[in-house]
Amino acid sequence: MTTWNKPISWSKFKLAIDCPKQLKYTIDREPVAETRQNYYMELGTITQFVFEQIFNQGINQKPGGDKLSTYQKCTEIVFKSKWYAARQITYPLGKSEDTLKEDVRAAVVRGWEIFTKLKLVNKPIRSEVKWTSTFRNMRLFALIDFVYEGSNSIYLFDGKGHAEKNADPRQLFFYALAVQSSNKTVGGGGFIYWKHDYEKLDLSPASIKEFVDGEFVEGRKVMEQLVRGVESLPAKPGKACKFCNWKFVCPDSTELKPPADHTLPDQVGFKSD
Ligand code: SF4
Repeated sequence: MTTWNKPISWSKFKLAIDCPKQLKYTIDREPVAETRQNYYMELGTITQFVFEQIFNQGINQKPGGDKLSTYQKCTEIVFKSKWYAARQITYPLGKSEDTLKEDVRAAVVRGWEIFTKLKLVNKPIRSEVKWTSTFRNMRLFALIDFVYEGSNSIYLFDGKGHAEKNADPRQLFFYALAVQSSNKTVGGGGFIYWKHDYEKLDLSPASIKEFVDGEFVEGRKVMEQLVRGVESLPAKPGKACKFCNWKFVCPDSTELKPPADHTLPDQVGFKSD
């Protein structure tokens, strides 16, 4: 029997919408660690960490701290930090450490340009913001990359290291719903693609309502079942299978034949919830 009584995050809610069975697998036996690193995920994580140092320490608001050179200096400090060394990056996809560093440096320049265009470069932006609220008896949890609280409204941004501009806009609708449910006004926001540019999303109350009236209803039904406790949840084979951790153990998977060197989730151990 699987039950869930914690606030619901976007990553879990996305599974509830895209494939409930994948959500059940994930709650029952989440792998301790991914066995492979993803280059673009590393690029996004390191770039995010640089901006976290800049914004959360208020570096951008100190005299001269809003200059590109300050951001570049922070990037080099991160490369020399214990945090960076501890990542033990294995450089997949044929990339080298030099390439990764160059890509992060370029991403920081792009990020600085984007925040400058958004007129946010010397504003009090918070990074990695944990936001909880309740909507229709459902506790929501959002971990938001960047939040700017203006005098009347709040702006939400998510950084992406993706090779393509293909982030899921429902993620920001979910965040906007969490913020709106705390009686705050969402002024706007979008995705910051570190390798590309900025993608503005329509986070108006009408768009949030459309999300709530649409797929949100479906995801909520799944979460309500989990709160009561379930033995199984239905599979939705298809697009979700490609990136599913369980694609080689799930009998409903549309992905066939694991590569010879693939480590199955069952072989890496599980952590208990
Ligand atoms: S392999 Fe496909 S059907 Fe099976 S759990 Fe994953 S996403 Fe769902």
